[in-house]
Amino acid sequence: CGVFGIWGHEKAAELTYYGLHSMQHRGQEGAGVVVNTGSELKGHKGLGLVNDVFKRVKFDDLEGSVAVGHVRYATQGGRGIENVQPLLFQSQTGGMALAHNGNLMNAHELRGELEGEGSILQTSSDTEVLAHLIKRSGEVTEDSIARALNRVVGAYAYIILQEDKMFAALDPSGIRPLSIGRLGDAYVIASETCAFDQIGATFEREVLPGELITISDEGMTSTRFAPRDKRRMCAMEYVYLSRPDSDVNYVNVHASRKQMGKELAKESSVDADIVVGVPDSSISAAIGYAEESGLPYEMGIIKNRYVGRTFIQPSQELRELGVKMKLSPVRSIIEGKRVVMIDDSIVRGTTSRRIVQMLREAGAKEIHVRIASPAIQNPCYYGIDMSTKKELIGANYSVDEINGIIGSDTLAYLSEKGLEKAIVKDKTINQGVCMACMTGKYPVKQDGELEIHYTS
Ligand code: 5GP
Ligand code: SF4
Ligand code: MG
Repeated sequence: CGVFGIWGHEKAAELTYYGLHSMQHRGQEGAGVVVNTGSELKGHKGLGLVNDVFKRVKFDDLEGSVAVGHVRYATQGGRGIENVQPLLFQSQTGGMALAHNGNLMNAHELRGELEGEGSILQTSSDTEVLAHLIKRSGEVTEDSIARALNRVVGAYAYIILQEDKMFAALDPSGIRPLSIGRLGDAYVIASETCAFDQIGATFEREVLPGELITISDEGMTSTRFAPRDKRRMCAMEYVYLSRPDSDVNYVNVHASRKQMGKELAKESSVDADIVVGVPDSSISAAIGYAEESGLPYEMGIIKNRYVGRTFIQPSQELRELGVKMKLSPVRSIIEGKRVVMIDDSIVRGTTSRRIVQMLREAGAKEIHVRIASPAIQNPCYYGIDMSTKKELIGANYSVDEINGIIGSDTLAYLSEKGLEKAIVKDKTINQGVCMACMTGKYPVKQDGELEIHYTS
């Protein structure tokens, strides 16, 4: 998911729309905005792409200088409109809107507790659980938010809005991205810095792990709701999720991907004629691989840009069809060549298998698949759609077996060290990364068994 918030600009709702549009890749199932009109919080949301949701919106009807927005990437949770965010709650003490990126591991447990106390929840979203925890103590204040945040376990970036304040909070390990920017006197908060560039805002700083930011007409203040843990930014943000022009935790995504490609070339070089990347997310890594290996980078695969991200498709059948609709080989470039094909990651194996087949049909002489991240062998509990071991090809087969399944001549993954090197240039800035889906070392654990309850 992607979150966006702006404080102190007369075109708040419209700028939120532009910000969300630039973060469309973070979620395509729903989008919404809540604006503070001065007298109330008022929202608009819908299922589908940002453009579709806002097509008939007149921004004159959403006038106000404060707004928060969300793009939704539903995974296992409900896909209904009630789960599209920001969630908006009205009460006698005032309104509250919430936008969340991440996943709470103890949402189910907390939901049981709340229901036991008589709360009636309207959505299957764990964001609503936090809303109840906050509102339980009456007013929406830094204290009530901090208390609520101390009850939840997981990965989260929140923007919370009430009539005269906007809050932003990041989990104590800082697993999900959340940045602060300025547009003139206005404050902007966004999951990705590409949203700042989109609206002409400048990046100011990252929200820190365990930090609670408060923005009001008096300016911005910061407190801490949890001891500051070492930051462990999700490595998959760099590998495939974020946009290449974004800086995630002070590291440019394109630059890190390019370095992943270089590390991959150092680790697993092969005799070949050309390097091709799978558009769009693997182009940067392919350029890095080509540069390091001295082989020419070629545009051997092109993408139909009117097809959405394939992983968003719910069934395997649709996913396979999705790949075919989306990618085509350039025969004149591929034919008779020994091809190094770079992809950023293998999750289920659908993409790689289809592309290898496609390159064979286009006449490739040899196909050497190089993956710019380590094998994904473990589920993610922190908000990325890789929920069960069963669906992860890397959890069930060896590299040799996967090479056979996808039909390549050779297959190699980037090492864990290589990936870390490509992201963490300076430990004082980056501190660390989460690579749990590759290493099995989870930075945040819940007592007892890990629970999967995806909603955002
Ligand atoms: P596969 O077809 O192996 O399941 O998916 C891997 C490819 O899909 C990669 O090219 C990656 O860019 C993209 N991708 C799509 N969805 C996801 C996802 O949820 N996680 C990851 N890591 N990659 C995804
Ligand atoms: Fe990201 Fe993987 Fe960690 Fe999930 S487990 S937060 S996908 S690095
Ligand atoms: Mg890809």
